[in-house]
Amino acid sequence: YTAKRHRTGVAVYDEARDGQGRHRLELAEQLRAAFGRDELVLHYQPKLTLGGDAVAGVEALVRWQHPQRGLLYPDAFIDVAQSSGLMGELTVAVLDLALAQTRAWADGGHPLEVAVNVSPSDLVDERFPDEVVARLRVHRLPASSLVLEVTESLLMEDRERAVAVLRRLRDAGVGIAIDDYGTGYSSLAYLAELPVTELKLDRAFVGTMVESPRNQAIVTSTLQLSHALGLRLVAEGAEDQATVDALADLGCDQVQGYHLSRPLPPAELIGWLRARAGQATPLPA
Ligand code: C2E
Ligand code: MG
Ligand code: MG
Ligand code: MG
Repeated sequence: YTAKRHRTGVAVYDEARDGQGRHRLELAEQLRAAFGRDELVLHYQPKLTLGGDAVAGVEALVRWQHPQRGLLYPDAFIDVAQSSGLMGELTVAVLDLALAQTRAWADGGHPLEVAVNVSPSDLVDERFPDEVVARLRVHRLPASSLVLEVTESLLMEDRERAVAVLRRLRDAGVGIAIDDYGTGYSSLAYLAELPVTELKLDRAFVGTMVESPRNQAIVTSTLQLSHALGLRLVAEGAEDQATVDALADLGCDQVQGYHLSRPLPPAELIGWLRARAGQATPLPA
């Protein structure tokens, strides 16, 4: 591109790029409208406690029921939400849906902990902790029923402010998880300073741990680190029974992955919970 520009002396019109820009603008406009039209829906993926075999909670994952394009997954619109300034609104919408659903499950005899993904930009917003506490109150849920999942990249942006926001959330009793742990850059020294309650080890390590001694070593050492720091370790991306068994043997706290369940619409999750309760050996009183 640069060479061409030099030769002709004018910028070459990049049609593909311009088309993409127009597409993104259109998507941003549609997303803005989506909030008021109830087009955002959540699917819930269970997290299982290893050892006890109980359902520990669920993670809420956003989808967009787009009127023309069908069900869109986050990789199709999270970047657009971020770049068009809609992220804060999206997070609050997701939080509200997730807490309303959690309230309904609790009322129906299924008390569950719910995890919500938040973006780095939420954590530099000083009003965010009050917003979260207010939503919990509206839905009459204890703070301990909510975990917020944040990625390590947040720590790169505005560290001090993000840590202050996390600390206020933690002081309010909300759980904090580092998502996709192991793929970012946070130093261990820094990690120990963070007000977190849980590490979610990225599936890049978990998915191949059975065949890869190297990745198994990473799982083992992360487990030791988590427990030494008093944190819960959740493994994400377990796709077969051998991986679930290996994680249980190592003493991993919780596991999530397609082998247990894909993210499910709320009605299907209830069916999944009931089916499990039917097969599971009763837990000791
Ligand atoms: P994440 O939070 O790390 O969520 C895990 C992703 O991995 C989900 O994809 C889930 O469906 C998928 N997954 C779960 N188990 C397995 C498995 O065994 N194998 C494989 N290959 N994949 C598995 P999804 O739903 O497409 O979400 C992608 C990412 O989008 C999430 O990664 C999260 O970072 C982001 N995201 C989702 N919902 C929200 C939201 O409400 N707000 C924000 N800010 N981000 C969200
Ligand atoms: Mg997550
Ligand atoms: Mg993750
Ligand atoms: Mg991920």
